[in-house]
Amino acid sequence: MSNKTLFTTLDDIQLSGKQILVRVDFNVPILNGNILDYTRIQASLPTIKKILNAGGNIILMSHLGRPTEGKFDENCSLSPVSKALSILLGVEVKFVTDWTRINHGSKHRVILLENVRFQCGETTNDEKLSRKMASMCDVFVNDAFAAAHRSHASTYGVAKYAPVVCAGPLMVKEIDALTTAFKNPAHPLIAIVGGSKVSSKLGVLKSLLTRVDKLIVGGGIANTFMKASGVNIGKSLCENDLLTTATEILDMAKLQGKDIPLPTDVVCGKSLDKNTTAITKTIGEILEDDLILDIGPETTKAYLDAITNSETIIWNGPVGVFEIDQYSRGTELIGTGIANSKAFSVAGGGDTLSAISKFNIGADISYITTAGGAFLEFLEGKTLPAIAILEECALAWKSTETEY
Ligand code: ADP
Ligand code: MG
Repeated sequence: MSNKTLFTTLDDIQLSGKQILVRVDFNVPILNGNILDYTRIQASLPTIKKILNAGGNIILMSHLGRPTEGKFDENCSLSPVSKALSILLGVEVKFVTDWTRINHGSKHRVILLENVRFQCGETTNDEKLSRKMASMCDVFVNDAFAAAHRSHASTYGVAKYAPVVCAGPLMVKEIDALTTAFKNPAHPLIAIVGGSKVSSKLGVLKSLLTRVDKLIVGGGIANTFMKASGVNIGKSLCENDLLTTATEILDMAKLQGKDIPLPTDVVCGKSLDKNTTAITKTIGEILEDDLILDIGPETTKAYLDAITNSETIIWNGPVGVFEIDQYSRGTELIGTGIANSKAFSVAGGGDTLSAISKFNIGADISYITTAGGAFLEFLEGKTLPAIAILEECALAWKSTETEY
């Protein structure tokens, strides 16, 4: 067993000559057959190499996008990933679209199965499909933390039937880093939650508030909080049906002696057009036809002071429309501040990762998770089903003391 986690890991298992089924997360952005971001593929390479070096044969499985289940959809095919993986590994990757051809005795070193979501029963955690997956292997390895919030056949069901089950190195690394940041953090602990909508992050905001010393909000989320506290935000993105909830969160913060600082100045535009002029305003100057699209310099400075004074930082969500240059300054400075701080910093989220790569600050952030939804659910303190079953399997494995 690994020391830090409750899982059985690759180090506990003899891999030579075994058929190892690995659930990875190759859900990467692909446009016209071109992979736009390799982060998740790169993150899986150490696991694949470790198994190959130990003499195991690998079958990889992943989902990609949200195809209609049971139907082939070229836009969701893992074929481009298969080609990229062959090059990155320097080993031929056999791409298999017809799963019925796979059986336990495959002689290929590395197989990549076509998108698991083309199989009927994947998202409903179908027993027959789970058993089919399990029958292909000696050992099932779940290395897909980014899909750990799903109880699908490839993330959950298969673990019930596979002969031996363990957590992959990336899975363990992700959980260890997030546990350090969230469950045993050094204080002051601050969270920066930006992005577009309060509704998509309500659970996280509430749960973070109980744990952090300071909760910094940005982006569209800050707009809703500003409006709830009586600021005129013009025609900015705002969820009016969540104004009462936002007020409750602000009141809860006061009761707990926590701080949710709100922007004192903002950068406004008249539309989301790339060519509109950006104007910095104090919050008292916002007009009815203004859109708040970034935090202003005074607010950025106040947030940066909080970042400098913290020991642990959790970051999810850009604080402005960073995709448009004139509204990207706040996110760039906050991101750079996080990267330069001495604190242990963890960042995650699809658009947060795009911002990190746009501003080239990834190397100095302590840990960047490959997960989006699973990261948020982990922060919420929810039990992630794929992790829960790995723990159950580890307990069962330990109690039987099977020699493998
Ligand atoms: P993540 O994927 O990192 O969790 P979200 O999906 O919640 O982040 O939000 C990212 C989006 O929020 C970006 O596309 C960004 O343009 C948008 N956004 C940020 N600030 C604002 C704002 N003030 N008004 C409208 N959209 C915003
Ligand atoms: Mg997003």
